[in-house]
Amino acid sequence: MLRAAEQIAKVIGEDAVTYDTDVLEHHGHSDWSTSNSPERAVAVVYPKSTEDVSAIARICHQRRVPMVPFGAGSSVEGNFSQPHSGICIDFSFMDKIIAFHPDDMDVVVQPGVNWMDLNKHIADSGLFAPMDPSPTATVGGMVSTNCSGTNAFRYGTMKDWVLNLTVVLADGTVIKTRRRPRKTSAGYNLTGLFVGAEGTLGMVTEATLKLAPIPQDTSVAVVSFPTIHAAAAAATTLIRSGIPLAALEIMDEQQMAILNKHGSPTVRKRHWAEQPTLFLKFSGTTAAVQSDAARTAALLAQTPGGGGHTIHVASSRQEQADLWAARKESLFTMTSTRPAGYEMWSTDVAVPISRLAEMIAWSQAECGQLGIFASVIGHVGDGNFHVAMIYDPRDAVQKEAVAGCVHRMMGKALEMEGTVSGEHAIGIGKKECLRDELGEETIGVMRALKHAVDPKGVMNPGKVFD
Ligand SMILES: Cc1cc2nc3c(=O)[nH]c(=O)nc-3n(C[C@H](O)[C@H](O)[C@H](O)COP(=O)(O)OP(=O)(O)OC[C@H]3O[C@@H](n4cnc5c(N)ncnc54)[C@H](O)[C@@H]3O)c2cc1C
Repeated sequence: MLRAAEQIAKVIGEDAVTYDTDVLEHHGHSDWSTSNSPERAVAVVYPKSTEDVSAIARICHQRRVPMVPFGAGSSVEGNFSQPHSGICIDFSFMDKIIAFHPDDMDVVVQPGVNWMDLNKHIADSGLFAPMDPSPTATVGGMVSTNCSGTNAFRYGTMKDWVLNLTVVLADGTVIKTRRRPRKTSAGYNLTGLFVGAEGTLGMVTEATLKLAPIPQDTSVAVVSFPTIHAAAAAATTLIRSGIPLAALEIMDEQQMAILNKHGSPTVRKRHWAEQPTLFLKFSGTTAAVQSDAARTAALLAQTPGGGGHTIHVASSRQEQADLWAARKESLFTMTSTRPAGYEMWSTDVAVPISRLAEMIAWSQAECGQLGIFASVIGHVGDGNFHVAMIYDPRDAVQKEAVAGCVHRMMGKALEMEGTVSGEHAIGIGKKECLRDELGEETIGVMRALKHAVDPKGVMNPGKVFD
């Protein structure tokens, strides 16, 4: 592995390779995740072009050295951890916008581009890239986890926004999955194959992304409920109503209490009701936003558990930003309350929407029995939510209880024809659950595809399935 790193340094430059232990640690461990492996890469390399990545792959392939791509390291299932050590490929110097085509509503970018920087850069054109995972996330990681976020309810997930990809395969071969038109039925959907592959099939070195028009107007509203079941049931009613909401999010009473105690000054401008709360976003023309907000308020007033609970609609742009900040900052706020040495286990399921209220109420009750901080939060508009639990990993009994609870949650979601990962992907954390979800035959097809493009098994080994 070290010889591979030395050879890479000769080809792409000595300054593009580091063995610094702090850097290796940062690239091999996530504070956001419990799915970390103890091994570390022997070196982190920083390519600047597709040619550099291809050269790295040729060297690693020839020496059978594992390659682990790294974007911003914000994924939470151990997706970029290095259980077989190897070389970590960090794309942060491949952060250029290669071509912007406002008339075609698309943009060609390198994988290290951060989605928020991209949106700032193109804002004047009236277009934006709608996926909103961690504020730090980069396009390469977002493509490779098929990420989503609060906007997915209106805009779909990352897979819906990728037009084509340039990919370096395990042996250094460079392919482009398709060209740039909005639609094609030419050949296999290779773009779809690499989206969500978690870097196990190749390294994305360029992506063409579709862009959406920035809506003329937006609004944000919050409404609280006496129970989590009532909140989730109201969410299901809203989804089925056909009101074109831009986002529909849930936070339970624990999350709301944390906002009051530990939220940022922006969030603490108001005192939050410490009850399960739906966060709603409206977008469109000004008339449509007003009409959608009014229809939503009327519908909620008739909804069991929603009656008498007045919806609060933001009265200014500033208030919209303040209300939404409470949702967007929630994970950071929750993490800041974690005692030293404690870890957060944040798990992720999605179920068909008719089962959502039952699934959320069941999960809250199940995790509530553990006697630790456990809280429900998530993208209910998509039938997707997270349970975050803060526990002491040094306490073996507690750790096992948390793992058992997560396992039972996965089982319950599958019983409801749901999925063990709505948006965080599989990594090392959910390999067993994926087998439970799809079965050996389906995993067998995945294994055959992997073997076809990476017969030596050097691309991000140990992830998704064994
Ligand atoms: C505070 C917070 C909030 C979050 N909110 C959301 C959310 O709302 N929705 C959501 O979906 N996720 C969310 N996430 C998870 C995370 O942001 C996403 O998974 C994101 O897509 C990861 O991007 P990244 O650049 O950090 O990728 P990384 O974590 O660096 O990598 C992710 C995976 O992609 C692979 N990879 C990276 N670059 C490439 C490449 N160029 N080619 C091939 N493979 C590559 C890696 O090997 C790894 O398997 C959140 C995380 C945090 C910490």
